Amino acid sequence: MRKKLVVGNWKMNGGLDGNETLLKALADAAPSLDGVDVSICVPFPYLFQPAMLLENTAITWSAQNVSEHMIGAFTGEVSAAMLREFSCKYALVGHSERRTLYGETDEIVARKFITAQKAGITPILCVGETLAEREADATQRVVGRQLDKVIELAGIAALENSVLAYEPVWAIGTGKTASAEQAQEVHAFIRNRVASRDSGLASKLLILYGGSVKASNAAQLLIMPDVDGGLIGGASLIAEDFLGICRAGIGAG
Ligand code: PEP
Repeated sequence: MRKKLVVGNWKMNGGLDGNETLLKALADAAPSLDGVDVSICVPFPYLFQPAMLLENTAITWSAQNVSEHMIGAFTGEVSAAMLREFSCKYALVGHSERRTLYGETDEIVARKFITAQKAGITPILCVGETLAEREADATQRVVGRQLDKVIELAGIAALENSVLAYEPVWAIGTGKTASAEQAQEVHAFIRNRVASRDSGLASKLLILYGGSVKASNAAQLLIMPDVDGGLIGGASLIAEDFLGICRAGIGAG
């Protein structure tokens, strides 16, 4: 049985005071969250806050992005080794906002995946189709292509130390959640694609769903057999909402 994983993505939100209140609420609730793994991806400058406030809890903290380069003249970038120094557990790679707004290609995303792993950070590889792609019946082709580039450059075994996140672009921040059946269908497709190369690895692989997950719809998504947790944007900014999703993860586990 795969333990559910709930990951919060604050995106470019937050401030010192508000973060402290939110993190303290998570720290207080942490002992009741034994049945689920929880991590939060905070903006880079604030990494010191979870490092201080969540230090003695089972909740981990993570990054929303990572450079594809290890070190050097890359102004504005943050390396995986730097994230490691702040004890980041995961780094998102290939979030749709990075792909769309910052032109990250499948190849750049794959290089970020590899660089994160080299520094001991577990990449969370985000994949997902746009609405136009879904309507053109291209969901599997797009998701398969995004996944295959990582397998091609990193090797299938590299997926062992990774997490996948299926995030339909049309569901991110829109209030439109994929139905549980739609999510399950793509998650099963992803797992089968990995299983065709390594079935043992596929059965252990965590595949998160992301896209307008809320406390009110989390249970129906997380109960699906191939949905191993959630990647949560907006609802991770409000302690009660995020904790409600974590609790749904315990219920579904
Ligand atoms: C996300 O940021 O990855 C996300 C899924 O956002 P939201 O939950 O707000 O749709």
